[in-house]
Amino acid sequence: MTTTARDRATSAGAYPSYDDEQPRDYGMLVGGEWVPAASGETIDVITPVDRFKVVARTPRGRAEDADRAVRAARAAYPAWAALPFAERQRALLRIADDLEPLVEDLARLTALDTGNALRTQARPEAALLVQAFRYFAGLAGEVKGVTLPTGDEALSYTRRLPLGVVAGILPWNSPLMIAAFKLPAALVSGNTMVLKAAEDAPLTILELAAVCARHLPPGVLNVVTGYGAEVGEALVVHEDVDKVSFTGSTAVGAGVASRAGQRLAHVSLELGGKSPCVVFPDSDTDAVVEQVLLATRFARQGQSCTSGSRLFLHEDIHDSFLDKLVARASELRVGDPREESSDIGCIINERQWQRVQGYIEDGLAQDGVGVAYDGRASLAVGEPGLYHAPMILTQVSNDWRIAREEIFGPVLSVLRWKDEDEVVRMANDTHYGLAAFVFARDIGAAMRTAHRIESGWVQVNQGGGQLPGQSYGGMKASGQGREFSLEGMLEGFTQIQQVNVRLT
Ligand code: NAD
Repeated sequence: MTTTARDRATSAGAYPSYDDEQPRDYGMLVGGEWVPAASGETIDVITPVDRFKVVARTPRGRAEDADRAVRAARAAYPAWAALPFAERQRALLRIADDLEPLVEDLARLTALDTGNALRTQARPEAALLVQAFRYFAGLAGEVKGVTLPTGDEALSYTRRLPLGVVAGILPWNSPLMIAAFKLPAALVSGNTMVLKAAEDAPLTILELAAVCARHLPPGVLNVVTGYGAEVGEALVVHEDVDKVSFTGSTAVGAGVASRAGQRLAHVSLELGGKSPCVVFPDSDTDAVVEQVLLATRFARQGQSCTSGSRLFLHEDIHDSFLDKLVARASELRVGDPREESSDIGCIINERQWQRVQGYIEDGLAQDGVGVAYDGRASLAVGEPGLYHAPMILTQVSNDWRIAREEIFGPVLSVLRWKDEDEVVRMANDTHYGLAAFVFARDIGAAMRTAHRIESGWVQVNQGGGQLPGQSYGGMKASGQGREFSLEGMLEGFTQIQQVNVRLT
């Protein structure tokens, strides 16, 4: 029997846990119903906490399932789009109110599903989801047009209209946070949606959908599960999907853009990164070390697109800063992501774990590389969890693979610099342009450098995460379009209709 996500989400604490004897069976949310895949096939969801443990089974959606979900979203679209904005606002606020008491459960499920540590990552991620629903509910009335002053005999104005059916494609690394970037903005501006959860970490998205479904008309939000090449691809090429909002790897995103582009669908892409983190000589302090540590995203096992994975240290402070950073990195506790005491959880799956090893081996094989810190030897946890400790490699050259390619693991490449022009050139010598971090007390140097770095998001003297309301997105091969902000919502999920009226 298919147990619905909807049933379980009504009682806090009833989400699947590691201790469940049998895997939970989930359905997909299509037209307000929880349904299996048309084929009846399922995919095992394995927790990174134990690579042998199947915690749930989700439907293996394919083209037929994508089509059912798109048709449900299309059927729900006219009535949803036609609502006064305050109605959509109310629905989002109700969802936020229902999500709030579930934050702890969603955080625990995130830890089980993704391996992200509860305290450092999973809980903030679940809390951000609630904030995002409230933030975008507040923007509901901003989906409005302007009037051109054409005199008393004419009325010339614009209307901001939704795009229609939006397919949101999610990665596994922070499913709730990335759903927060897309879902409330798309819905509040009058679109209906089909979300595709990542095959490796779909559970929190299904539970989120269960809460949303209580407050939305059937079909306004649909969620499909399955493999990217199957149900994901089917959404991208579906002729009734008006917009594809994709977050994932640059390679897959390029294919998505080209296939959606062939049928002239709207596309936005949040892709990979290899972000620079630049420390000036006046910033050799413990406080900056803490922020740089945040920027490394070690506490997310490095599985973050905004990881400051290339650390540029000025030569005058290189050794002293590195000593402090290594001392702090060695204090980070790698452990069960569900434990409060863990700073770092697990890598998502075995394939990714091996991929990280491959990069480390490649880095270690380079002439002149130094190892400032290799936490692997002191790792107190191991099988059956997919644990990995931080690794800090020094004397790295900007043209090595470990400095050019996104590793998506806790591996930091440290590079030395002498002058400002040189460090800006090295920071920009990448095909990515997602995030950047600049640390300098000299505010002139900090701002000059921040403005010269080709990244969609630059942080100065801080290393944390995104805030609702900021424009988030990448330059260059890190993506197209912005999310999580008023302008992101307007540009990404609406279109303008110009109306000219003769009044005489
Ligand atoms: P991925 O590209 O492999 O998959 C992302 C999603 O796309 C998954 O749901 C997958 O099933 C789906 N997919 C795969 N092939 C598809 C296809 N042909 N058509 C349609 N959908 C398809 O990425 P991932 O491994 O899940 O996530 C890690 C990557 O995501 C990293 O590169 C990371 O940098 C990036 N990421 C970017 C951001 C951002 O905001 N820029 C945020 C998180 C992750």
